[in-house]
Amino acid sequence: MKTAHASSHARRGCVTASLQSPMPQSLEPGDQALLTEARAIIGLRQRQDWHHIGAALRTRSGRVFAAVHLEAYVGRVAICAEAIAVGMGAAAGDTDIEVIVAVNRAGKVVAPCGICRELISDYAPNAHVIVPGVEGPERVPVTALLPNKYVRPGT
Ligand SMILES: [Zn+2]
Repeated sequence: MKTAHASSHARRGCVTASLQSPMPQSLEPGDQALLTEARAIIGLRQRQDWHHIGAALRTRSGRVFAAVHLEAYVGRVAICAEAIAVGMGAAAGDTDIEVIVAVNRAGKVVAPCGICRELISDYAPNAHVIVPGVEGPERVPVTALLPNKYVRPGT
């Protein structure tokens, strides 16, 4: 039994590795500026129990939208910073996201949750996401983070 358990973990490790392809890319100069935007908004707006995460996205037209997450008394009501940044883009008529990143209050890059992966790929299937990598933040296509994406029937 123990061997089967260990083997199961090894297989999962292989699957995880294959889901990471295509290979992550290192950050471009504009990506560092976007990281700075995300760190700036959470640095400015952080509030214990209310805003812990900042996100910034850049669209292909060069517009940048930065937001903080909204915590709530009832946890499931909370809304991720990425979702609010996407909504800001939608309100401005621009959801052609080139790259998006989220950071915590320490300024460390955090990967998007599963719901945000769905949302980002719904609005911008060609978007890239900056995620924590082995050697620091790296860019990956949002589709690499979301195998077997949900799609509406008939689309
Ligand atoms: Zn999320």
